[in-house]
Amino acid sequence: MKTKFIFVTGGVLSSLGKGLAAASIGALLKARGLTCTIQKLDPYINVDPGTMNPFQHGEVYVTDDGAETDLDMGHYERYLDVPMSQRNNYTSGSIYHTVITKERRGDYLGGTVQVIPHITDEIKRAVLSLGGDNLDVALVEIGGTVGDIEGLPFLEAIRQLRSDLGKENVLYIHLTLVPYIKTAGELKTKPTQHSVKELRSIGIQPDIVLCRSECALDESVKAKIALFCNVDKDAVFCAVDVDNIYKVPLKLYDEGLDQKVAIMLKLPAKNPDLSAWHALVQRLDHPQGEVTIGICGKYVDLKEAYKSLHEALVHGGVANEVKVNLRYINSEEIDSKSVAGLLKDCDGVLVPGGFGSRGVEGKIKAIEYARKNKVPFFGICLGMQCAVIEFARNVAGLAGANSEEFDQNTAHPVIYLMKEWYDFQKGRMEVRDALCNKGGTMRLGAYPCRLVSDTQAYAAYGQDDIDERHRHRYEFNKAYFEQLKAKGLTFSGLSPDGELVEIVELADHPWFLGCQFHPEFKSNPMRPHPLFREFIGAAKRLKYGAKKKKD
Ligand code: GLN
Repeated sequence: MKTKFIFVTGGVLSSLGKGLAAASIGALLKARGLTCTIQKLDPYINVDPGTMNPFQHGEVYVTDDGAETDLDMGHYERYLDVPMSQRNNYTSGSIYHTVITKERRGDYLGGTVQVIPHITDEIKRAVLSLGGDNLDVALVEIGGTVGDIEGLPFLEAIRQLRSDLGKENVLYIHLTLVPYIKTAGELKTKPTQHSVKELRSIGIQPDIVLCRSECALDESVKAKIALFCNVDKDAVFCAVDVDNIYKVPLKLYDEGLDQKVAIMLKLPAKNPDLSAWHALVQRLDHPQGEVTIGICGKYVDLKEAYKSLHEALVHGGVANEVKVNLRYINSEEIDSKSVAGLLKDCDGVLVPGGFGSRGVEGKIKAIEYARKNKVPFFGICLGMQCAVIEFARNVAGLAGANSEEFDQNTAHPVIYLMKEWYDFQKGRMEVRDALCNKGGTMRLGAYPCRLVSDTQAYAAYGQDDIDERHRHRYEFNKAYFEQLKAKGLTFSGLSPDGELVEIVELADHPWFLGCQFHPEFKSNPMRPHPLFREFIGAAKRLKYGAKKKKD
């Protein structure tokens, strides 16, 4: 196996941007022409983040193969542009689950099952499953902070991997914080020293120390860290705060981090081609205008819950050379009286995905406002379902129309739980269950969709067949298809067999589209998603008119 492994650990405190740092290193290595992937090992006990509250954990990121993963997978896909899968995210829970399942099956032949070697071996198997002849580098991010009890088995496993794979094939990068203490006017290295000491006490000597800091580190600070942390002087790097996350790869390149990694791992020396990253940053730094998008959702206090959505909107702005201002509006505060005031300066209205009935009526109100006032509207998953409900109630005259999720006894279940769906998808579910080792109750992962010509959706994608990622239980109820169509709702995307409605839109509107899938998971800064591109384009037209660029 030719794959080299880079392990990224974090110290001092969480939220230092370990995922972004790992993704940025991956982007630099990819720009050097190397094949790369990334994996995250999360120390919590949940088998996957699928059931975790986005308030606590941030967004659940869905991959093509239907894995519900940590939001860092989103960064990885956006920075590396390689698809992630179930294999890219393991948790302590999933590792233990595998070991306990084996134990119950009798695989350990009566032996005592222990953290070392059984759990650590399973972790190593998960890490090594990435490797192969076609992969140059695998980056593995260890979630949590060094010093946490629950992270120990992961750290022990990666410690062992250096001797298993050979020194020349493994690199440890430790991300720490170097705080600037205002009153002393000084950058402090002590937390870094302690964090590295902690890491060394469990047998891992980092090769590279990457210091998150609000200002650049001068040579004397770097030299001090090198001395106390026992690393080469030129192996201490600064990850300085930036105003835009897409600047991180360029900053790390300026520091020479990828060069050092390449030397240490004896990777072919080749300068990275960063032209696409430079072009991206140039566009982000010099927008030709700005638009404001009102996001009517539930998790308004925690932006992390809408991470990919936020990024996809930024990408849509890049495609249209505008800055996108996001205004998060708590849908519980939206009613007939407040709606106009809350949305009046918005150039576009977006209703994102969500679960549960809280705030749904407010979302429906916002959609009614956007429909009537011809404000560009984009509904995603629950947002699309709400658009259907709004149309059914207010245009098609189906009083009380609702989703079965919110009203089991609704007179008009325009969105419903498709009982036949599981039989209909059975073959596929079985394959997935076998792969993911879990029962599926949701439509998860990539599904094909056929577009109808002469629609906004077709104009955006410019092709007949697409596939997009799903994460939902409820579906459009085909019993209402003809009725709503007759009233002017356009069904512009359906499953290839015509059974599932995937996209709805309105013809008599500048841009009004709802999709049952989550397009935000597939948007990339270098390839903004067609629907986000068109939505932001429509918002820009509303604000500046068809041609004019500047105010
Ligand atoms: N709650 C809805 C469903 O389960 C929508 C889910 C979502 O928006 N991701 O179908």
